[in-house]
Amino acid sequence: MKKNTVQKDLPLGLYIHIPFCRSKCAYCDFYSLAGAEERMDDYCRALERHLAEVAPQAECHKADTVYFGGGTPSYLGAERLCRLLGSIRKLYKVDKHAEITLEANPDSATDRKALKRLRKAGFNRLSLGVQSMDDALLQTIGRIHTRQQVQEAVAAARKAGFKNLSLDLIYGLPGQTMEGWEKTLSDAVGLHPEHLSCYGLKLEEGTPLYRRQGELTFPDEDMQADMYLYAVEFLKQCGYEQYEISNFAKPGFASRHNLKYWLMQEYAGFGPGAHSDFGNVRYGYARDLERYLKGELVLQESETVDSDEREREYLMLRLRTVQGVDPREFEYRFRQRFAPLAALLQQCAREGLAEQDGNGWHLTAKGFLVSNRIIGLLQDELAREKNRRLEAAARGDYRVV
Ligand code: SF4
Repeated sequence: MKKNTVQKDLPLGLYIHIPFCRSKCAYCDFYSLAGAEERMDDYCRALERHLAEVAPQAECHKADTVYFGGGTPSYLGAERLCRLLGSIRKLYKVDKHAEITLEANPDSATDRKALKRLRKAGFNRLSLGVQSMDDALLQTIGRIHTRQQVQEAVAAARKAGFKNLSLDLIYGLPGQTMEGWEKTLSDAVGLHPEHLSCYGLKLEEGTPLYRRQGELTFPDEDMQADMYLYAVEFLKQCGYEQYEISNFAKPGFASRHNLKYWLMQEYAGFGPGAHSDFGNVRYGYARDLERYLKGELVLQESETVDSDEREREYLMLRLRTVQGVDPREFEYRFRQRFAPLAALLQQCAREGLAEQDGNGWHLTAKGFLVSNRIIGLLQDELAREKNRRLEAAARGDYRVV
């Protein structure tokens, strides 16, 4: 008799959203609230209820990454964070080598004792929101920490035993010069983080910075592009491998959790505003703390992802990575010819925007700057290829497969 084969220990990423900040930064449109500290304990209880509710769906899974993002998770305090991680371990199988990340802001991550406690509880990766090493710029964008606090937080994290440290930086800030960006980068590298993320500033509608754009001077598009290309080159010289448009790491320190998003692996999110791609359903919870506290898991979006959508997603997400697109994997996974896409990528290669290596196709640093346009063209080509196949099938033509 044939045995039932139940899959075991499928890898899963867990994302825990902590929607509290000490104050709101001028450019931020993440779901986070300032002045809601009195809701923190209720929030932890609501998260625990939510984690317990979803746990039975993850019985065949083992979490190999856990990511506390925000908001400012470090602002929740070590005690609450350790308790939450303990609850996760009780409710889910967590791999003993799991990457467990805590996002932190420098102003709430300088207490060595608290960091030690977090390290002991199992957090093994700290991602610090630095953004700039220039105090005047930090003030302009509404950050409440200083350059000095960044240095103190890094020193405290190292003393507490964190061996995997990431720093987030932003370029294209109002009034930022190329020299200023170079200095921030070299100061950040001087702190010897294992990982760096460099994001271009995006003016999000509804933010204070968006409203003030008329009174401020921003680096123009060309200057932003130069800042980006400088970062790619400088970080390469300093031993950081670029593995995604905005992410750089010393060998072996790429963020395993973030790679799940780009490699289309499963992750489950918890908390208002958190997103998931779990059980072939993509869903996100409403950005509404009060309803979440009442136990109402309001879905803002939910869709079963069909194979057409996965194909488009594959191109979009893989081309964000340096690993790029593997034609054999693409053809096997989606039963589609890669040749029409390769023709387009060859054209990009002639313009210095893409490269082919033993594994397939990936964009160059110049290509990353216009990745949305390239991905759009590839997706259009994919749609045309599908139509060609449909027409061939209708004609009974065996030559187009
Ligand atoms: S600390 Fe982060 S999440 Fe909080 S307001 Fe600033 S950018 Fe947004």
